[in-house]
Amino acid sequence: MQRRLLCALLVFCMIVAGVEPTWASPSRLRVRLFESRQALDSLQILGNSKIVSPLRMHLAGSTQIKVNRDRVEVIPLDLKGRIPNLKHPLVSAPYIIIEPASGPGIRVRTSAEVERVYGGRLHFSVDSSALLVHNEISTSEYVSSVVGSEAPPSCPLEALKAFAVMTIAIVERKKDGELIGDSTREQAYLGKQYATAPVRTAVRTVMNKRWLYGKNSVRPYYHSTCSGGTSSGAAIFGPGAAALKYLRGVKCVYCAGSPFWKDKTSTVSLDSFRALFSDTVPAISGFDEAGRPLQLVGSKSDGSVLRLTGYEAWLKIGRQYGWGLVPGTRYSYSVNGDSVTLKSSGAGHGVGLCQWGAAGLANEGKSFDQILSFYFPGTRIVEKR
Ligand SMILES: [Zn+2]
Repeated sequence: MQRRLLCALLVFCMIVAGVEPTWASPSRLRVRLFESRQALDSLQILGNSKIVSPLRMHLAGSTQIKVNRDRVEVIPLDLKGRIPNLKHPLVSAPYIIIEPASGPGIRVRTSAEVERVYGGRLHFSVDSSALLVHNEISTSEYVSSVVGSEAPPSCPLEALKAFAVMTIAIVERKKDGELIGDSTREQAYLGKQYATAPVRTAVRTVMNKRWLYGKNSVRPYYHSTCSGGTSSGAAIFGPGAAALKYLRGVKCVYCAGSPFWKDKTSTVSLDSFRALFSDTVPAISGFDEAGRPLQLVGSKSDGSVLRLTGYEAWLKIGRQYGWGLVPGTRYSYSVNGDSVTLKSSGAGHGVGLCQWGAAGLANEGKSFDQILSFYFPGTRIVEKR
């Protein structure tokens, strides 16, 4: 009892002092940056920084980091940010680690539009003639950035707390130092600018909580907008997800403020659509209670039958045409002459928590644990012991 009191007092003191409590496991992660963009051959670090490996060197002013064959080169930029006419780079090595010289992070520019700030260290190396950038970061920094990166704009605090509980539940299954990506394939991680004061407050408030279904930790799934209702895990991901009994479909009208609430109509050529599905236009055979297609069946030209789940077909469509064409798994389509008209509503796979709905529920006065138990029925929040 005395130990629990001491632990509680320690966490309380750290929160009051604004210190991030240390993570039990893992304490640090490595994030592959810019994973969803085309191969990068250079970027700029804006402002002072320092190299900590393979040698120690202070870098005064902005710097270009670029690939030259199998080596990473560091080239100091002049005061106007231009590349000087140097015969040799300042440093050339297969692997370079850079830290901020002072202040909260390293400001990185990959193009005129993309400028981000990263805490921790940046590891640069070369992979297939492209610049590979990993960010070594404390888990608490990572969680705060992810919660801020994934949240809808002007997200209320109780919804941020719900997102923080989910992100912590995902991260706690990682190994110390595990390499993860920075795109929505896992969770969006857009750097330190997104770890705002309300986000940090949300993360600190819930980090001593546990989220359980029975005695087990919850495996969270979430998406942007369900547009009227979520689907069960089994309906979208298949029978394997049925064991996660809290992934049930719930009716949700709280995401009506989302830009993905309304129906979206798109058109593609019949030829390309047919080619995508092995020379057939499969028919949708059945929808779940939330209106999402369960299975698609078509006859291929060789006489064999094509069978896909609605989710598998949605992934195919997104990978072929981009995710903006059919943003959500509630979709249907029809052939009109030599084109296919696709209709969809919502955004994302439609299982688990609806992010825009969570923000809507928080605006109606619901607390983070009420939001979580709404989208994940039967789950509960308890204090960590
Ligand atoms: Zn919703």
